[in-house]
Formats: sequence, C-alpha cells, structure tokens
Amino acid sequence: MRLLLVEDHDGLGGQLSAHFQDSGMAVTWCRSGQAALAAMAVPHDAVVLDLGLPDMDGLDVLSALRDASVPVLILTARDEVESRIEGLDAGADDYILKPFSLPELEARLRAVMRRPGLRQATLLRFGDISFDKPRLSGSVNGKTLTLTRREALVLEALLRSGAQVLVRDALVDDVYGTDGDASANAMEAIISRVRRKLAALGSRVQIEALRGIGYRLRDDG
Ligand code: CA
Repeated sequence: MRLLLVEDHDGLGGQLSAHFQDSGMAVTWCRSGQAALAAMAVPHDAVVLDLGLPDMDGLDVLSALRDASVPVLILTARDEVESRIEGLDAGADDYILKPFSLPELEARLRAVMRRPGLRQATLLRFGDISFDKPRLSGSVNGKTLTLTRREALVLEALLRSGAQVLVRDALVDDVYGTDGDASANAMEAIISRVRRKLAALGSRVQIEALRGIGYRLRDDG
C-alpha cells in the first residue's frame, strides 16, 4: 500500500513516516503542497494531509486530490476549527486533531480506506495470482504465498500494472518510498525471490524483466 504523507513539520513527519513504514506501507513524504501535487503523478492508495503547509493552502491541495479520488485524512491543529469544517466540505474523508496518538491516527486511516464507494479495489488479480491489499498477502490458486513485506509490496505493484510495463524507478519508489534508497541489485534480488516463490506454488505467471526499463507480468496459462 502506498501512502502519501504531506506534513511540513520535520519531527512529526519523520515520526509518521517511520511508523507507517513499520506498518508495512510504502510512504512518500512531502513537506510542501507543490511536492504533494507532483507526487500525485503516481497513484497512491491514501493521503494524510496537514492543512498548514508553507507554500500553499492545504485545502487547495485537497481539491486537487479530490480529482484523483483518493481517500484523504486531514491533520489539523485545534485552533483551525473552521478550516476543519471547510476541509470536510471540500471532500476530505476524515480529519484528526493535533495532537493525536499514532494508534488513533492509524485506525482512522484504515477506516477511511475501508469506506464504501472508494475506488480502491482491495483484491488484485492477475492470472492465477490473487493479492489482498489491506493484508499485504498473496496467493496462487488459493495457496498462500509467504512473502516478506518488501516482496509483498513488489508483488502488489507488479499486479497493479499487470501486463503493462512497470518502470523500475516507480517500483523502487513504491517499495521504499521516495525517501528510501535502493540499488538496482537490491530490487533485482527481491524480484528473483518473488519469482522463485511464485514458481514454487506452480504459478503460470512470469515476471518479465525489460532491461534498463522495468518489469511486466505475463500469464503463460
Ligand atoms: Ca504544518
């Protein structure tokens, strides 16, 4: 699952980013509205948006996010009650007042993502592979794949692109977040392990590598 975190406060942003990564999400952390809008060029599954941003009004970021129809949880200070109401009118799925506890934030985030009417399919399929996004768990013909968190994120990203080419840089961002760092070799090693695990369960799906570009799935069934 890919989360866009928009928070200009270094301490809070760092803490949230680390927390959500530990929870198994790929986090893109942006410290400004402009950076958040640029990051939306890549689809995200949910957004945590601070309203008080240095370069633009968080509500303007929110309207842009609405066009991308992604679930949004707003972070706001207690003294911004009016912005809070405006935020909900502008289409945020929920808001949370600062200060908040991490478990509460996480519970609210999961709730906005589960809300009916969200365009996020929770189950991804390609060939004989199924993948449950909220649980980060995959299976081949009903047999459970045992995957590490990174392997699961790689498989999720591949399934999302399916037979379309998934550019390697986008995949690295997806798995490590834009603040993360990974060599091409590290990614190749994860792909190899996912390939072996798929093959071990008899999957017909192949992960094709396009040299210097990225990957795509092929169903040999
Ligand atoms: Ca702020």
